[in-house]
Amino acid sequence: MSKYKIEIDRDLCIGDGACVGEAPEAIEMDDENIAIVRDPGGNSDEEILQAAQVCPVDAIILTDNESGEKVWPQG
Ligand code: SF4
Repeated sequence: MSKYKIEIDRDLCIGDGACVGEAPEAIEMDDENIAIVRDPGGNSDEEILQAAQVCPVDAIILTDNESGEKVWPQG
């Protein structure tokens, strides 16, 4: 099971696909060219964190499934 719960803010996403480049199994682009969660366990935790970190608009929100704490974005 994935360490992170992945949420994507559709209003923020600008559709550049950077996240898919890092975690192509976990995240894909939908018909409107907005990122959606495909399979949260499809990529490693590290790859999913990378995907969130490369997002230029911080549209990917990661929450630690165990602690319930927000991991990304920071601050
Ligand atoms: S990196 Fe961010 S802005 Fe780009 S497609 Fe993914 S969620 Fe959308």
